[in-house]
Amino acid sequence: MQSPQVRTVQSQRLQKIGAYLFADLDRKQEALQAKGVDVINLGVGDPDLPTAEHIIRGLEEGARDPRSHRYPPYYGTGEFRRAAAQWFGARFGITEDPDRQVLALIGSKEGLAHLPWATLNPGEVALVPDPGYPVYRSATIMAEGEPYAMPLRADRGFLPSFEGIPHDVLRRARLLFLNYPNNPTGATADLAFFAEAVAFAKRWGLLLVHDNSYSEITYDGYRAPSVLQVDGAMDLAIELHSLSKSYNMTGWRVGFAVGNEEAIQALGTVKTNVDSGVFRAVQQAAIAALTGPQDVIGRTLAIYKARRDRLVAALRAVGWNPPSPKATLYVWMATPNGQSSVDFAADVLERTGVVITPGIGYGASGEGYVRLSLTTPDARLDEALTRIRRAYG
Ligand SMILES: *Cc1c(COP(=O)(O)O)cnc(C)c1O
Repeated sequence: MQSPQVRTVQSQRLQKIGAYLFADLDRKQEALQAKGVDVINLGVGDPDLPTAEHIIRGLEEGARDPRSHRYPPYYGTGEFRRAAAQWFGARFGITEDPDRQVLALIGSKEGLAHLPWATLNPGEVALVPDPGYPVYRSATIMAEGEPYAMPLRADRGFLPSFEGIPHDVLRRARLLFLNYPNNPTGATADLAFFAEAVAFAKRWGLLLVHDNSYSEITYDGYRAPSVLQVDGAMDLAIELHSLSKSYNMTGWRVGFAVGNEEAIQALGTVKTNVDSGVFRAVQQAAIAALTGPQDVIGRTLAIYKARRDRLVAALRAVGWNPPSPKATLYVWMATPNGQSSVDFAADVLERTGVVITPGIGYGASGEGYVRLSLTTPDARLDEALTRIRRAYG
């Protein structure tokens, strides 16, 4: 007897997010590894440096606190929200009410993923940067919203052009996602651009969602601004911060949102229905990070900067043309001779055993670029650069 056909497991929502683009490249990588090739991964952006000792102690103390063994407050502990507001105030000169304008997140990714659920009705549009961190688009689709890609082009410094967006799209639009310092392009935005974005959001009634995950990962004396420094931004903007990149804490899953009170409340309401908040001991560790010595960031940045300089020099030595980014963990480079991003990444992998990310994985406008990350230990990075020099020099 035939069993009834099992219907496809994936919802239409999930199917719409689309197939994983790099399956082919992953197979090539696995095939090389099976042949004994020592593959070096410059594809992922995941800090390799350890979390500082005083932060780990914060977790240990938190874990022994019996309050940690119970459900945490949904919006984060008062102590965490005050620490976040204090850090934000000291860093950007903006006062946030820790009780109404700050929300603890299980990493900024969690906040980004839940924001469309909190704020979008089915069929409403979210404007998303392209290339961009994939969550803006996929979370919009999961919430049955419609992502509209704003191309980021080199000739505009990888800032979107708001003028080009059709009015019939804007009339249905509700969310505007921005991310500077930018993953994957390494681009930065100044306050004048943020002021333009705030005016645009106001004109069209958008909630501006700024992903500031790389605010502290900057070089050469550059300091990244907050969108909330723009006059009137608090009326329509929310900004997401993460401890992941600043404090080498990607595994810990902690960040926070600050800004517009209604948006914070809406996002918090989703969280009360979904995840019950951040483990209190992790919040204790985050407090240690935010209120403790900040020179740990400077030491991390010195290492990334040295890697950036060696990477850029090595790529230029073989005739490629990467810019030297003044922020983020990424070098975003046009492929040589206009090769497709997937072909070029496959060629580099086959000839050197080095994994780099094809730009098209971040959206159609990422085509023609590849991303190389600075989060590989020094010796491994240098080995990768030696191989690239040998293969392409
Ligand atoms: C790494 C990253 C995040 C996610 O950070 P978590 O706080 O670890 O969730 C969000 N946005 C961008 C652009 C990132 O690169």
